Amino acid sequence: MAFGPQMNGNGNAHPIAPLDASRLKIQLAKTLKPIPAPGTYQFGDIHTDHMLIMAYHPLSGWSAPEIKPYGPIPIDPASNCLQYASNVFEGMKAILDPQGKPRLFRPKDNMERLRQSAARMALPTFDPDALLTCISKLVAIESRLYIRPTMMGTKPSIKVGASDHAILYTIVTPVGPYFTPTSASASAPPTTGGAVSLLAVSDHVRSWPGGTGGFKLGLNYSPGFVPQKAAAALGYDQVLWLLNTGDGRKLITEAGAMNFFAVVKRGDGGMTIVTPPLDGTILPGITRDSTLQLLRAYAQGSLALPPLPSPPPAPVVIEERELALGELTEHAAAGTLLECFGTGTAVLVVGIERIGEVVVDAKLSTEAEDVAAVAESKENAANGGKTKGNGTFDITMTSGRGLGPMGRALWDKLLAIKEGREDFAGWAVLCE
Ligand SMILES: *Cc1c(COP(=O)(O)O)cnc(C)c1O
Repeated sequence: MAFGPQMNGNGNAHPIAPLDASRLKIQLAKTLKPIPAPGTYQFGDIHTDHMLIMAYHPLSGWSAPEIKPYGPIPIDPASNCLQYASNVFEGMKAILDPQGKPRLFRPKDNMERLRQSAARMALPTFDPDALLTCISKLVAIESRLYIRPTMMGTKPSIKVGASDHAILYTIVTPVGPYFTPTSASASAPPTTGGAVSLLAVSDHVRSWPGGTGGFKLGLNYSPGFVPQKAAAALGYDQVLWLLNTGDGRKLITEAGAMNFFAVVKRGDGGMTIVTPPLDGTILPGITRDSTLQLLRAYAQGSLALPPLPSPPPAPVVIEERELALGELTEHAAAGTLLECFGTGTAVLVVGIERIGEVVVDAKLSTEAEDVAAVAESKENAANGGKTKGNGTFDITMTSGRGLGPMGRALWDKLLAIKEGREDFAGWAVLCE
């Protein structure tokens, strides 16, 4: 797909404008908000002074991008996104390097993934490099931030179908604690290498073969809110999303909005690291890919991952393959489950210290009942677990609480790369 000027399909000579970073208009806020003290806010709740915004019209193409004071966006009440959830987004972080300059981590990969999400939603396309230029300008104005590029279909029609109008905007939020720990065990802040507990859920499904779980579409996340509340009611931090197979296995897909890794000990004393494959049910995390690349370099002896011994004393094997919950419980029972961790931009690497499963009746009719039933089965479990045939079990990692040695090593290495203290493949890009 070329991004140069195109003629529209109506035989009119109006050129369709591409997204053009050289047309960026910057209007700075007259008064700046006070910077909140660390620890006084939650991730995502407050926003900075500026946002980046542009709109697509099918006859004229992309408007000039604008950086302007943060504020509401007027949209037509018939907008496609309000009726049919044509919303897609990205998540990136800017981190200050030792010189105090903000750096983005593999931002071209985020732009490409946004382009793919937009294409999956039949939204207008855009030049990823031009968008990155605009976002870098925004980040240079606002640093140390979580960045949320968002695109939504704004065709002013309730007709079911693709939106050929769009708004593309980017807002930024200071980096605060991503998880609100619900269990006492998650008291260590995950951003400094803490750990979370997961409730394994298979009666609700996050994604399925042929579905859209491999894209960052808004509609993939809201159906997870009810199961997330149920997990929180049971004292778990996040949901471990499972996918039932026809043969009775429960495949692990993701942990909340993080990719999942398990580290197991082999008979020969070496380690095998397993993560589910990108089969369309898994969001292709940039942290996941970075983790795999770092681990492969470590396994080959070309990268040190302190405090792990370097080179590894026994072969390190990395597998992208199906991973069933049953396999994890077997390893946990045999004492060969060394650690599990989740990866994602917001947390980097977070340890998984406990996985529990509550089996609830399948015939629950409403979502609200579902939450109640899970809470009730917790009480049942506390009372000896003897009703409805429900059961719970926990897996305790042999590495104990917190981030295990491998998760810790990866967290340290990724942070050093993101902060520009170490270089790996030019991943940390300066914003100017
Ligand atoms: C965004 C996201 C991830 C992590 O992706 P990163 O690029 O590493 O931030 C993992 N799983 C889901 C479901 C996500 O939405």
